[in-house]
Amino acid sequence: MSDATLVTPPASEAPTVLPAQQQPPLQPHDSNSLISMRNIWKTYQMGSEQVHALHGVSFDIPKGEYIAIIGPSGSGKSTLMNLIGCLDTPTSGEYWLNGKNVSEMDDDELARIRNQEVGFVFQTFNLLARATALHNVELPLIYGGISSAQRHEMAKQALAAVDLADRVTHRPNELSGGQRQRVAIARALVNNPSILLADEPTGALDTHTSMEIMDLFERLHGEGNTIIVVTHEQDIAARAHRVVSIRDGLIEKDEKIR
Ligand code: ADP
Ligand code: MG
Repeated sequence: MSDATLVTPPASEAPTVLPAQQQPPLQPHDSNSLISMRNIWKTYQMGSEQVHALHGVSFDIPKGEYIAIIGPSGSGKSTLMNLIGCLDTPTSGEYWLNGKNVSEMDDDELARIRNQEVGFVFQTFNLLARATALHNVELPLIYGGISSAQRHEMAKQALAAVDLADRVTHRPNELSGGQRQRVAIARALVNNPSILLADEPTGALDTHTSMEIMDLFERLHGEGNTIIVVTHEQDIAARAHRVVSIRDGLIEKDEKIR
């Protein structure tokens, strides 16, 4: 962990990384991008200490892109994913998602946009243990005022799309790790969100199963989904089409790889 290398200016000073004359000029946000971030800072207050988890991150993600965000532990990946997924707001900077300025939203607006725009996939699946696969996938629809017959139908289709049509009545403990993650992916997609956002989605899976999940992401990308995978594993990142490397809260590299 490299907390010691993080810039920690006195609270009275505006945080800076480079002197103003060395900073590249910042373009205004790109209204054609699905995601557009400009000079995003995230600072956590730890007692009297400030931890700058992100130091002025700027980038754009067009609709339909398949992108990996890679970096070592503590580099700011989860912080960035929480901002992208509207689970949190930046300390400063602008974040536009699908034409809306998320950085100025209050908690209610944030919850609404998160429901509409983002499907989450987590390392530990986060399924309800006592609920069937079908019920787990239906959950995001319960808040949307959709009839129960229609919810069933949508959840069944989402499960079929991840090749689990024959497992709808199984509970998580009756499924393998890879199948559980596929249920979580069906749940993430059932609302037809703008982004599929996955934080270390293969972190709890063996290599073979990890590759099956990455095959599924590739297929979902081919079907038009925008996918963002956060990972610390090089071989997982290598499956994306663009790789953004972050270190100590800054973008270090941003490359198209296919
Ligand atoms: P990663 O996901 O890449 O491991 P994180 O985004 O979790 O990194 O953390 C980035 C930095 O911010 C780390 O130095 C971490 O200790 C710090 N951090 C993350 N969350 C908090 C928090 N809630 N409060 C204080 N510091 C935090
Ligand atoms: Mg993390």
